[in-house]
Amino acid sequence: MAFEGLTERLQKAMEKLRRKPKVTEEDLRETMREIRMALLEADVNFKVVKDFVKTVRQKAAGAEVLKGLNPAQQIVKIVDEQLTELMGQEAVPLNKADHIPTVIMMVGLQGAGKTTTAGKLAKRLKEEQHARPLFIAADVYRPAAITQLQQVADSIDVPVFQKGTDENPVQIVKEGLAKAHEDKNDYVIIDTAGRLQIDETLMNELAQIKELAHPDEILLVVDAMTGQNAVNTAQGFDDKLDITGVVLTKLDGDTRGGAAMSIRAVTGKPIKFVGEGEKMSDLDVFHPDRMASRILGMGDMLTLIEKAQKNVDEEQAQEAMDKMRANEFDYNDFVAQLDQVTKMGPMENIMKMIPGMANNPALKNMHMDPKTFVHIKAIIQSMTPAEREDPDLMSPSRRRRLAAGSGRPIVEVNRMIKQFNQMRKMMKQITNGNFGAMQNMMGG
Ligand code: GDP
Repeated sequence: MAFEGLTERLQKAMEKLRRKPKVTEEDLRETMREIRMALLEADVNFKVVKDFVKTVRQKAAGAEVLKGLNPAQQIVKIVDEQLTELMGQEAVPLNKADHIPTVIMMVGLQGAGKTTTAGKLAKRLKEEQHARPLFIAADVYRPAAITQLQQVADSIDVPVFQKGTDENPVQIVKEGLAKAHEDKNDYVIIDTAGRLQIDETLMNELAQIKELAHPDEILLVVDAMTGQNAVNTAQGFDDKLDITGVVLTKLDGDTRGGAAMSIRAVTGKPIKFVGEGEKMSDLDVFHPDRMASRILGMGDMLTLIEKAQKNVDEEQAQEAMDKMRANEFDYNDFVAQLDQVTKMGPMENIMKMIPGMANNPALKNMHMDPKTFVHIKAIIQSMTPAEREDPDLMSPSRRRRLAAGSGRPIVEVNRMIKQFNQMRKMMKQITNGNFGAMQNMMGG
């Protein structure tokens, strides 16, 4: 899980401070040392760490933290604010030209996720602005690259301008832009070639494309898993091309966090989006404040709510809520809810956005097997319509029949029914205004 070690170390440092009856200068110095170590271990750029700790220390001194009522809480607040500032303070939107087409040039090393991100971006533009983007396939060095772009484009129904691998990329871009003008596309997304590392030839070619296409946005795609290399790559590309923004991919993996925290400080260029999975819907706007919260293990409720709004059918959710309140929530509703939740992405990613959950020991090594959902559904599908509508019918003999019908062990059937009943009970309490029930369940 991303940032896991960092979150854990920062939380430990804060927790230690919190437990002291009285915080001394020396305690504060110790906390600063721990924060410094945590950041260095997360592969944050050395100079960035130095400046960061210095600023936090100055702010803590300025705010006279030690004299305040709750020093630990104040330090958390200062660290949170500084992390936010470090990552750019506010989300920076995609550039848009005042004429069509807006030209977006995707650059980056091979394997960083350029083509995938181009697809995700086009999908987003279509959904949010009803845009009609056109891709230009300018990676002529790997025939597979064009095929891959074509596949991505087909999956989201976006046209591709391509001329195979024989033509010069600059010429292809020129013709592609002419085509976009002709077809009145409002966005052009140029997928350029990548290399395993930055080299002169690649950079010169990209510079030529830039000169010809006058892109409104040059988005550098970097792989968060590569830590400091991602930062060096960003600097290299920025020196040559003066990029306008960064997309940090693979934040769903167990990246330590160094890239997310150093890129802005080192290059001065904003991270505009983050990739959190391989699916076309796995692209999120980068919000520095929410990312800071996440790093500190305070969750990211806003992103969670947005994801829910995007993926959950509101009417259906309301209906489920009403049924819960009336204690009429049945197995049919349960399956419908499961389907909606699975649309939001891997369960681990969803859970860690809930405040306090990121480092909940119960979740630490949790891996929610997507098959769990499939199995639960299989059990429910083995129920008769009457059983699905009346959860109280579940006698031992019926349970045995379900186990046989779904091919799942009886313990699993029993566990599922028990969990369902617990959920029903809890939901009833919550909808009646008893939020303590939820806290009890989460061990809070
Ligand atoms: P390109 O060579 O830069 O065009 O990279 P691709 O778009 O081909 O991506 C390389 C690999 O990374 C593919 O297997 C993608 O599915 C995967 N990938 C891209 N973005 C993400 C992401 O945000 N998360 C994960 N887990 N995989 C990603």
